[in-house]
Amino acid sequence: MSTEISTDRVAAPEALTGTVSVLIPLALPKPYDYKVPADMELHAGSYVVVPLGTQELLGVVWGPGSGEVGHNRLKPVAEVLDVPPMPEVLRRFVDWVAGYTVSPAGSVLRLAIRAPGALEPARMRTAYILSDARPQRMTPARARVVEVAEDGFARTVRELAEEAGVSDGVVRGLVDAGTLLPVDIPTEVPFPDPLVEQKGVSLSEEQAAAAARLAGAVEAEKFSVTLLDGVTGSGKTEVYFEAVAAALKRKKQVLILLPEIALTSQFLDRFERRFGCRPAEWHSDLPGRERRRVWRGVAEGRASVVVGARSALFLPFCDLGLIVVDEEHDAAFKQEDGVTYHARDMSVVRASLGQFPIVLSSATPSLETAVNAELGKYDAVRLSSRHGEAVLPQVMAIDMRADPPERGRWLSPVLVREMAKALEAGEQAMLFLNRRGYAPLTLCRTCGHRIECPQCSAWLVEHRFRRELACHHCGYSAPVPKACPSCGAEESLVACGPGVERIAEEVAEIFPEARTVIVSSDNLRGPAAHEEVFAAIEAREADIVIGTQIVAKGHHFPWLTLVGVVDADLGLENGDLRAGERTYQLLQQVAGRAGRAERPGRVFLQSFMPEHGVMCALVSGRRDEFLEREARARERVGLPPYGRLAGIVVSAPDAGLAQRVAREMARTAPRADDVTVLGPAPAPMALLRGRTRLRFLVKAGRNVNIQAFLHAWLDGLKVPNQVRVSVDVDPYSFM
Ligand code: ADP
Ligand code: ZN
Repeated sequence: MSTEISTDRVAAPEALTGTVSVLIPLALPKPYDYKVPADMELHAGSYVVVPLGTQELLGVVWGPGSGEVGHNRLKPVAEVLDVPPMPEVLRRFVDWVAGYTVSPAGSVLRLAIRAPGALEPARMRTAYILSDARPQRMTPARARVVEVAEDGFARTVRELAEEAGVSDGVVRGLVDAGTLLPVDIPTEVPFPDPLVEQKGVSLSEEQAAAAARLAGAVEAEKFSVTLLDGVTGSGKTEVYFEAVAAALKRKKQVLILLPEIALTSQFLDRFERRFGCRPAEWHSDLPGRERRRVWRGVAEGRASVVVGARSALFLPFCDLGLIVVDEEHDAAFKQEDGVTYHARDMSVVRASLGQFPIVLSSATPSLETAVNAELGKYDAVRLSSRHGEAVLPQVMAIDMRADPPERGRWLSPVLVREMAKALEAGEQAMLFLNRRGYAPLTLCRTCGHRIECPQCSAWLVEHRFRRELACHHCGYSAPVPKACPSCGAEESLVACGPGVERIAEEVAEIFPEARTVIVSSDNLRGPAAHEEVFAAIEAREADIVIGTQIVAKGHHFPWLTLVGVVDADLGLENGDLRAGERTYQLLQQVAGRAGRAERPGRVFLQSFMPEHGVMCALVSGRRDEFLEREARARERVGLPPYGRLAGIVVSAPDAGLAQRVAREMARTAPRADDVTVLGPAPAPMALLRGRTRLRFLVKAGRNVNIQAFLHAWLDGLKVPNQVRVSVDVDPYSFM
């Protein structure tokens, strides 16, 4: 069955005449008018080339001209490109995102056309088909080539030679003889059709009921939001695959959004097992050629399923009918640079504009989503048990005050004992510490000096394997000095606190026989390295896994039964409004790695405050009570989702300049009911990449149009060139 998306149901739009407005993918707030040349056919959404100043730039026709500038002063559109016009719903989405994030529409448009070469004609390569002419001299090798080519498919010289098992020369001989005729074919690999009729795994009763609800939402072909709330290992993926199948059966395109880090070949393999082929992929590591292929495939309806990171949301789908946001609570969905948008929230908007359903999947839903489900704005479907024999792991806290590690060590004797038991039983143990490197701080014993990044307000992190001190914010690095840079004392620098490398050192001392692997972005460069190490863990080639958050997500290690969290309190240190929620989510995810198959799992949280609400919730498994408490706490002080927030960061290479601009902004801030402007105050990262940073926080009631307030404040603002003012609506980072 072909899942090619029909484009004929989209009626051809009226051609635009006279003038058109064209949006250009630069930081420009609105489209500019251009003349339509007499011999050019343009539609809303056409990709065009237009002159701007001395340049010719790519743009998209946004609609009829605004008429703001007289016709005779307008320049004509230079060229129209042979690409399906940008769908109306995507143009409305671009405008919506620009409005919500208080960003220039042109900057948002850039997100939608970020695919090199996508707008150029497809490159062709030469392939060959069989003619009626046969060579005068027929050898057995030539006959084999003819036999292969007889099916009528076009193949390159290489392909023919390989399939026939002959040399390239034999094939070339047949070309010279006129037996093979050259034809031009696109260089791109076509998108295979997912096998939607193929049955997936047989679902449990609870899973089947959940899948039916999701499929029902797809069949309704209208906007709805469903939270798929299931414990880790409950089969959420298998369940939402049924919704994907339902959408594909209706010839709709599907987008599955994953946090970038979870986009592994493990996931793609699972998709392939269910649907018989790999989906199209979209993420930041995709080579340019592949970006072009996916972008075009999506625009032309040839690619029916995309699995991608947040930016996939801006692909030009011609008939999108379902979005699934997996791990919807994940902070990686928030884009922090440039246009700061939250891909989960914007996905809901995209579904609403396109009038189709969206599924938000998580074992630890965000408070925002949980509240919406509670209020009945979102539908909620629950999976309460793990699939098959697997049971949820038992979670226990280790009170580090009562059972402290030995001097100079980081693992409590309780945890060490449990690790020994697991290893004894031939099982795997994992130690989780969300800190790269060897030690987060290097201190001089003589003078107390702490080694900081020269460009950021951050300590340098020691990376012992690389023998350097590195800044995790700007990438600065330097060799570890022999003497204290401040007092000159030799042999006086000490490493303070642990990172994963230091834990590995301790493990090697305690368990010299165990095979240990560190999983952190430092020792794994690129997706292939990740795959390799995850495959090795699955194949039980490691006994102890020591990892940062990379190991927290999505992986299924059947032999892993013990998880030790080295510092469960770590995330609570930064006191932002989501610190508790995020620590809970992260640790719950990590805990979810344990005991996913027959053998039950156990999780130990090393904590200096086991009485803290987050630890209690993890140990007791009472998630909903925890969320409820968090919700009430935020409601009391009017924080999201019970109020609105926007962050504004003013930065400049010169501290005095940044302060002057921020003070001036404070003076001109408008006054409005139910809006408080806090600041300017030095940001927690008061210095970043050599720029001084000051922060404002705008706090507003839930019914306040915070965007209108920000426009009123910032639209007329003139700042010197070196000063940057960046706005973040619904901030997740308060650094
Ligand atoms: P979750 O996403 O909720 O953590 P998964 O969908 O990853 O759970 O499922 C956990 C494991 O159980 C996977 O290996 C999955 O293939 C398997 N699984 C889940 N449901 C079924 C089922 N009905 N039949 C067979 N295997 C299943
Ligand atoms: Zn730095």
